[in-house]
Amino acid sequence: MGAMSTELLFLRDAFQRDVEARVTGVDTACRRVALDRTVFYPTGGGQPHDLGVLAGLDVVAVDKAGEDIWHTLGGDDPLPDVGDTVHGAIDWARRHDLMRTHTALHVLCGVIWNQWGTSVTGGNMEPLAARMDFEFDPLPVGFGDTVEALVNAELEADRPVEVSFLPRDTAVMDEDLIRTKVSLVPESVPEIRVVDIVGLDKQADGGTHVSSTGQVGRVRVVKTESKGRGNKRIRIAVVDA
Ligand SMILES: [Zn+2]
Repeated sequence: MGAMSTELLFLRDAFQRDVEARVTGVDTACRRVALDRTVFYPTGGGQPHDLGVLAGLDVVAVDKAGEDIWHTLGGDDPLPDVGDTVHGAIDWARRHDLMRTHTALHVLCGVIWNQWGTSVTGGNMEPLAARMDFEFDPLPVGFGDTVEALVNAELEADRPVEVSFLPRDTAVMDEDLIRTKVSLVPESVPEIRVVDIVGLDKQADGGTHVSSTGQVGRVRVVKTESKGRGNKRIRIAVVDA
């Protein structure tokens, strides 16, 4: 076991599908390996982990522990050894669906903030399906239809989605980032990754996104429901344009 820190290639290029990497740690008991760099997104930030193949074995889970990403491998074939160079490839269809879905959720946040000044309280996503909770009480009349139309207009507008890295001191002064509670990022983090849907929504975020809102496709509001006072849930599906 034990390892170094894994370079997270997906933070700078969400479209990179495969990687040659060196094994830096092997945990035989849990059938998992750490790499010096990876394209596999680990569970976190509301986005599910990637699946795929690493060293010829199925990747069944991906987790971040400290500065390392651990890839849990299925089957019972032998694991690679520390120092080996291995090839890894993510299940791209699934990842791309998650990227579409994640960007759709940020569009949803931006639209709801602009229209009603209401913040997100929680959410969850799977490929092409997601739910998000907002501080409404009660829900505005016609909410589902209105949101669907507003979100789809932003997707049709094909706004660029830009990723940048800001020093923490700069990020906490940014008006758009303040509203998304950037101050909650631990002070030990020197640089904050920012996902900016230009002109619509800017957030500190570690997830993977498509590079323009047009690449999401379109959104259908599947359901709106009350989860109690001041907490209303919206469920969406992402569909092709
Ligand atoms: Zn996000």
